[in-house]
Amino acid sequence: MNEQSEQIIIAGAGLAGSLLSVYLAQRGFAVDVYEQRPDMRRVDISAGRSINLALSTRGIFALSEVGLKDEVMQLAIPMRGRMIHAVDGSLTFQPYGKDDSEVIYSVSRGELNMRMMTLAEGHPDVRLHFGQRCDGVDFTTGTARFVDDESGESYSRSGATIIGTDGAGSAIRTAMQRLGHFDVTQEFLEHGYKELSIPPADDGSHRIDVNALHIWPRRSFMLIALPNLDGSFTCTLFLQHTGDPGFEELNSPERIHGFFQQEFPDALPLMPTLVEDFMENPVGQLGTVRCTPWHVGGMAVLLGDAAHAIVPFYGQGMNCSFEDCTVLNNCIDEFGQDWERVFHVFQKRRKANADAIADLALANFIEMRDSVADARFLLMKKVGLALEERFPEYFVPQYAMVTFHRIPYAAALARGKLQHSILEQLTEGVTDPAEVDFAKAESLITETLRPYAEDMTLFT
Ligand SMILES: Cc1cc2nc3c(=O)[nH]c(=O)nc-3n(C[C@H](O)[C@H](O)[C@H](O)COP(=O)(O)OP(=O)(O)OC[C@H]3O[C@@H](n4cnc5c(N)ncnc54)[C@H](O)[C@@H]3O)c2cc1C
Repeated sequence: MNEQSEQIIIAGAGLAGSLLSVYLAQRGFAVDVYEQRPDMRRVDISAGRSINLALSTRGIFALSEVGLKDEVMQLAIPMRGRMIHAVDGSLTFQPYGKDDSEVIYSVSRGELNMRMMTLAEGHPDVRLHFGQRCDGVDFTTGTARFVDDESGESYSRSGATIIGTDGAGSAIRTAMQRLGHFDVTQEFLEHGYKELSIPPADDGSHRIDVNALHIWPRRSFMLIALPNLDGSFTCTLFLQHTGDPGFEELNSPERIHGFFQQEFPDALPLMPTLVEDFMENPVGQLGTVRCTPWHVGGMAVLLGDAAHAIVPFYGQGMNCSFEDCTVLNNCIDEFGQDWERVFHVFQKRRKANADAIADLALANFIEMRDSVADARFLLMKKVGLALEERFPEYFVPQYAMVTFHRIPYAAALARGKLQHSILEQLTEGVTDPAEVDFAKAESLITETLRPYAEDMTLFT
């Protein structure tokens, strides 16, 4: 199929924009991608930091559709579960899935982004323009405005379909907002985040278990660490901006060291550059953006974080954005270049799911920093896996639905609530999964849940 007649402008060559440009290039569209940053393949824009992300089934599916799965999986480190670090240094491993087929993968954000850009650029009709910031869109004429970073010159491009993949602070979304009849909410958490590092051991190996996502849950805050291929771990501290403890309070080497000594004593010796990293690296904001509509007729559409930024606690922001690309591509399959219809159906299929994963991600913050250390929570997790084993056609734990399946997020949320109530009833007064009344479980499950496959079909 060749759709060369149409020209498409993509604003933002981050994770979603780069992947989408590959999808569209493979369909034969002429695509111009404008990215405000320099080309990360030529200029190091990482400020020396190596940042990684958890990639899971939805993201992997999209990568396999464009033929990048095998290449990316070579860069990916499987994480089989959470390794919980208590203050006394004791470790508890909680597997993510029912077996080793259900794992998530740590991948370098930069490597992933660069591979997608290179694949896109291999298509003759794709052009990536770096150092070009989108400054807004005039929707009366369908003209996108850009500013060249080096010369400061402004220029316009018109006559193309515009896709805004310019992230949580989207300029395209701001332009849509100015049109009126546009709802947008931005809710920031009291918590921010800071990236830190555990370097490799002297022999280049990982200093802690490489096949786990490490968590130091401390109720109102937490530290996490994901492995990198070079033997290091990228750590992220999620902490309130103000208060005690809070980022503002941690403003001297003594306070930073003292805080880690008290809260993360087993991590501290693994982090020789802690104080420098802490003083140098910025504090990032965490928030949820919801908006509607996502498109202006057939002229422009938002996708990825530009349409629905979420907090990172379910490890789904990128995966969800990649799934957006899959669904938009399906809509083009169905409706061709009737862009208004494509965008309308795309929003219809994605909006409720984006809202659902936003809610799930907020709830998972509490789970990660707090409940993972709770005995009842752990019991419910184990019982959930036992129910999946006995009733696989009905019961799939919520984490697995979101992470290892492609069931719509909204269905995962709804089923998860019903399952939670079943688990609460079954674990009342119980201390060991062996004590669960599985006859009662069967009747509760079949009365409350419809077969899993019926909700999977909602996807198409
Ligand atoms: C701390 C943290 C951890 C995370 N961990 C995970 C995880 O483990 N798993 C996961 O799935 N997701 C994770 N995410 C979420 C993930 O990073 C985002 O959902 C994902 O990056 C969204 O992709 P995007 O392309 O929509 O936006 P981005 O990746 O932000 O890309 C937007 C691009 O647009 C460019 N841009 C911005 N404005 C303009 C403009 N005006 N003109 C031109 N270009 C512009 C930017 O430079 C950037 O390249 C995490 C997020 C954070 C903050």
